[in-house]
Amino acid sequence: MAAYVAGLNEKPFRAKQLMQWIHQRGVSDINEMSDLAKSFRATLQDKVEVLSLPVIKDEHATDGTRKWLLDVGAGNAVESVFIPEDDRGTLCISSQAGCAVNCRFCSTGRQGFSRNLTAGEIIGQLWFAEHLLRNDPNAIRRIEAYPTPGWEHTGRVISNVVMMGMGEPLLNYDNVVTALRLMLDDKAYGLSRRRVTVSTSGVVPMIDRLAQDCPVALAVSLHAPNDQLRDQLVPLNLKYPLRELLAACERYLPFAPRDFLTFEYCMLDGVNDSDVQAKELVRLLANIKCKINLIPFNPFPESGLKRSSAQRIHAFFGILLDAGMVATVRKTRGDDIAAACGQLAGDVVDRTRVRERAVHSNQIQLDQDVDAKADADALDADDEEQEQESGYQSERSVQWLKKLDD
Ligand code: SF4
Repeated sequence: MAAYVAGLNEKPFRAKQLMQWIHQRGVSDINEMSDLAKSFRATLQDKVEVLSLPVIKDEHATDGTRKWLLDVGAGNAVESVFIPEDDRGTLCISSQAGCAVNCRFCSTGRQGFSRNLTAGEIIGQLWFAEHLLRNDPNAIRRIEAYPTPGWEHTGRVISNVVMMGMGEPLLNYDNVVTALRLMLDDKAYGLSRRRVTVSTSGVVPMIDRLAQDCPVALAVSLHAPNDQLRDQLVPLNLKYPLRELLAACERYLPFAPRDFLTFEYCMLDGVNDSDVQAKELVRLLANIKCKINLIPFNPFPESGLKRSSAQRIHAFFGILLDAGMVATVRKTRGDDIAAACGQLAGDVVDRTRVRERAVHSNQIQLDQDVDAKADADALDADDEEQEQESGYQSERSVQWLKKLDD
């Protein structure tokens, strides 16, 4: 912005004013930017537009989660999800239209890759949601009832951003880092590094670059305790196997805003959820300061996968806790509008016929550890019970255990 303003022969403080009008106040009409000189406003009006991505669909879930399908042109669309909680308002945003990584359990991956989003399209999702929600009576009520600590007087609705929407953020590195810097900038959104999370499937060289360029909180999509299984679930593992990925995680830790990393582990019935695999996971992560986030799989057509039963998740979780690991079970949010993890599909044009190939690959059974299979068979999922449990999956370990015991 400073460079742009300098190019118009304006003083540097004009850049600060513009940033505040656009990002802090959400004003898109140049004429309303009242403290800019009239001549400067006239120049801007000839040259720039402040635009939001067109909204194709706006969905409200019964739990307050809200999902927008946003048009990014040429038949592509991306999704953003707002997840209100008592003590925070989290926006999950997308970094690419589609995704090339093609994780086995992820709806976005099944769509194929279309293109990287620009920095404007990434930060535009935050700009749009923040300023829309400031006028949403439900969002305002939540803020008044449960102000986010340290966030009380800002009037802002979104206190946390997670880059866990569509796409692999570290494969669109430059645009993502530009957008991250705006999220952190006091003249824009002023979010703390601890409240901005990048989630990656494991692009090792870019984890190292992020540590240097913009070290926000890091979440790693792990999903398997060994290379053999991870190669099948997260194909990027063939390029950056676990040994290299975990070494990169250790190098990131000194730069991380909190003194731990998060590992995401999607619970897939009979695939990665056995006792043996839980113990293997403990051994794998024993030397890294981390939190393991167990995510009950959110099924979608074509995946050929099922969510682990509540009992299986309970048993897996118990093994992690008994071994002294920090673990949580993610609350499933926005189920009724397909806004939960791994369900963001948008209406992305399938340019790579990935969907066709996926149907074929689902006919091929995943290789499974014999012990894991026996274990999964013994604890076969009870669908009805699963539905009841999903209503109260809790991030808080103790509550999770207690409810199940009850
Ligand atoms: S989980 Fe993330 S990296 Fe994997 S296919 Fe989905 S969007 Fe891409």
